[in-house]
Amino acid sequence: MKMTAFAKKFSEQAGINSLMDDLGKAMAGDQPMIMMGGGNPGHFSPVQERLREEFQKIGQDPEAFARLVGNYDAPQGEARFISALKDLLNETYGWGLSEENIALTNGSQAAFFMLFNLFAGTTPEGEERQILLPLAPEYLGYADAGLGANTFRSVRPKIDYVGEHTFKYRVDFDQLALDEQVGALCVSRPTNPTGNVLTDEEIDKLHKLAKDWDIPLIIDGAYGSPFPELIYTQANPIWDEQIILCLSLSKLGLPAARTGIVIAPSEVIRALSGANAILNLATGSFGPQLTENLVRSGEILTLSREQVRPWYQAKMHKAVAVLHEAFEDACPWYIHQPEGAMFLWLWFPGLPITSHELYQRLKARGVLVVSGHYFFPGMPNEDDWPHRHECLRVTYSQDDEQVAKGLRIIADEVRQAFADA
Ligand code: PLP
Repeated sequence: MKMTAFAKKFSEQAGINSLMDDLGKAMAGDQPMIMMGGGNPGHFSPVQERLREEFQKIGQDPEAFARLVGNYDAPQGEARFISALKDLLNETYGWGLSEENIALTNGSQAAFFMLFNLFAGTTPEGEERQILLPLAPEYLGYADAGLGANTFRSVRPKIDYVGEHTFKYRVDFDQLALDEQVGALCVSRPTNPTGNVLTDEEIDKLHKLAKDWDIPLIIDGAYGSPFPELIYTQANPIWDEQIILCLSLSKLGLPAARTGIVIAPSEVIRALSGANAILNLATGSFGPQLTENLVRSGEILTLSREQVRPWYQAKMHKAVAVLHEAFEDACPWYIHQPEGAMFLWLWFPGLPITSHELYQRLKARGVLVVSGHYFFPGMPNEDDWPHRHECLRVTYSQDDEQVAKGLRIIADEVRQAFADA
């Protein structure tokens, strides 16, 4: 069969495809695996219990159940949820949103696909536009989301050493050169894979650049404020007409509900609604209906701040303590300052093997992580920066004992690699 370039793009085993495939096969194999690879949230019982109550309420109410399964929503998304969220965000942050500023998508991943193709590619005037990622490493899921070639361009960070075994990436504003080709800026905050949280000062500077060039600053808040609020440092959420804020219900504990939320100027919401209609007719209403009461009452905020965040933060502290104990000073090792999300980003300067080889060795020992080299979308495949092949992303959302066991195996394997060199 002869298929198009569009088909070729989606059939190619690039980036996220090959990684998800490999992780899936490893999990389905005979060997028991410690899963520290994906971005699946932990199964946190207080959230699950609360959602189960809401689910039961809907199940017992024929009208609510009919609404849950029997209606196509408008392409912008479930209207009652949108209205409740608008009120919550306005009351909490004073953003002055109207319903025209919010659209829902089937997961925020789908929102990024649509947004990147709204702002990168060929304009009606024939100009080529790109998405500029001001700080790589950045989320791997962006990498193949552009329909055109060269959708992304990204910039190496500055590295600050903030402790004996801790560092922090910072946006290198000296290298961040904007030009007419840049259609939008995009950052994840907190960042997947590093757990970095861009500071308010960095966000303010990016916001100003976006204003100066009249382009949007896309902020991916999949792990951020106001929910699930996996932020362990001080960071102010911001929104205005220059900003497109993307949220998700996934990391709160509902990845299967596939609910993404975009808060943006109304012209962007109109374009997204049109794309939603063409791709999906309507977005799924399961997530919005299940969480509507939590949003309406504001409980989604207290649940995030008082339960979900402390739970992940405690897991993070445990994982960091295990690493210090397992590595001691046996070889060069660093963790990115863990300021948010559910990942530790480990860096082994001078690692004698590539991070991909390290991933393979760990997989053979029953530990699944993700090699850091995947997380540099928008950089040429090969350059002279060894850092790209010296890092691992480790997820700590699963069982603490298993995570500790996995981390000890990682430390052992890395020490061995240095000892053999
Ligand atoms: N953004 C970031 C930074 C992520 O890590 C993920 C998922 O892992 C997503 C967006 C997409 O999440 P979802 O489509 O479940 O909303």
